[in-house]
Amino acid sequence: VRVWYSLFSRGAGGHRRRGEFDFSPLLPPSPVLIFFVLLATFSVSQAQQRLTVNGRDVAGMSTTLVSGSSYAPALALAEAIGGHMSYDPALGLAVFDYAGHLLSLRVYTTGSEARNATQAIELDGRSVAGTGAVNVEGSLYVPVKSVVAAFGGSTEYNAEQGQAVVVFPRAVLTSATVASSQGYDRFVLEFTGLTPYQLYFNEAANTLQVRLERLEPVSAQGFSGQFITNALLQQNGSYTDLIVRLNEGTRFESYTAPREGGFRFILDILPTSAQRQDPVATPVLVVDAGHGGSDSGLALPEGQEGDLTWGLAQRLSEVLRAAGLASDVTRTGDITVSVSERSQAGIGSEFYLSLHAADTLTPGQMNLFYLSEANDAATLDVAIRENARAALDQQGTDVMRRRLLLNLVPDTARGERYANALARELQSLGGYTVNVLAGLPLKTLEGAAGRGVLIEFNASNLSDPQLAVYLASAIRTAMSQEGF
Ligand SMILES: [Zn+2]
Repeated sequence: VRVWYSLFSRGAGGHRRRGEFDFSPLLPPSPVLIFFVLLATFSVSQAQQRLTVNGRDVAGMSTTLVSGSSYAPALALAEAIGGHMSYDPALGLAVFDYAGHLLSLRVYTTGSEARNATQAIELDGRSVAGTGAVNVEGSLYVPVKSVVAAFGGSTEYNAEQGQAVVVFPRAVLTSATVASSQGYDRFVLEFTGLTPYQLYFNEAANTLQVRLERLEPVSAQGFSGQFITNALLQQNGSYTDLIVRLNEGTRFESYTAPREGGFRFILDILPTSAQRQDPVATPVLVVDAGHGGSDSGLALPEGQEGDLTWGLAQRLSEVLRAAGLASDVTRTGDITVSVSERSQAGIGSEFYLSLHAADTLTPGQMNLFYLSEANDAATLDVAIRENARAALDQQGTDVMRRRLLLNLVPDTARGERYANALARELQSLGGYTVNVLAGLPLKTLEGAAGRGVLIEFNASNLSDPQLAVYLASAIRTAMSQEGF
């Protein structure tokens, strides 16, 4: 069970807030947990340390919990920077969601464990420097400097005064647009840098206010659309507000998507009656039959590569279905499917398998590849995010985005484990010689964000019906090892 909770304590009085609140909490915050937060905050703050974030005091910082580091209560720090914090006790992970970026910290039970941990922090699935989180009797503490640095802020610590001062630079709004399409009006605000934002909805006036807190001042800009009466972006003292007056019978959905160094805020206004499809309802297993259509692949004595992989994909799907495991295919026949379409089909999947032939293999030999970020991490990251963006462009809400992003956090270690498990099973079941080769930045596997394997077979094995049986069994074993 994943326990979500968020804090949005600052707000305009009298306005019911919606939008961000729609997705959270999926489960209400546990009163027991809140009790422990208060208890631990009280007991650890004896050290008389002071933490300010963008000029606001954050109670409960400790410099003794983990020697040599300033730790702050996770919820309070998340609130102070304007982000969300969720805790998954089953995974032992604390996840900060800030302006579309996800920072996850491993949770330890003692300060020394947290301090000595390696690879304790990941930002958007990529390991970053820092120590782990500590669970103090049910209350989470996180390293101030690591969390702040990951989100682009800076921390100054004055030992004499026992004070840590955290400052985030102001973000810049680089564009604000509205596009009206058939089903909705879509606002897209693009930012360099991160800025906390809050949504307030005034039901009586049917008016939505998006308040951005740490933004370089903007000049006023008006918008019009098919589902809004009017909209205005304007500076309001130190805040920037987007005020949208909705037409009767409409509602809004909002979400954020990360972009290099910043984020994109997206707000859709749509008729109340409009239903949207959940883009995350993706089958757990996706089978990609390589090539097909105008791309026939290798010409082999047994036939065209695209026909051979399609044959195996069909047999494999049948065997899997008989065993109670639903799968999806990236193509439905001898048709041309682009690599990016294949990759996109893997978004949100837990296992993506791409089937190919190689003319360099003798019968019984197979090559397995998994996704690696080693060659070009920046390109890989961009590709994964672009895939996510493309999916989000079609539809989405914050709750979907969160789930999607959680799934999309690159997990190349999972792909490597899948490859090794498949190799082991295929060797023992069919006596094949299976080479697990070093990871490659394979575009086909990017949509599944590392949760995939590309297999090259010898053509005679590809057309052998028994292969589908062995492969299905190997897939089920590999997936059960990951808890599916
Ligand atoms: Zn191929």
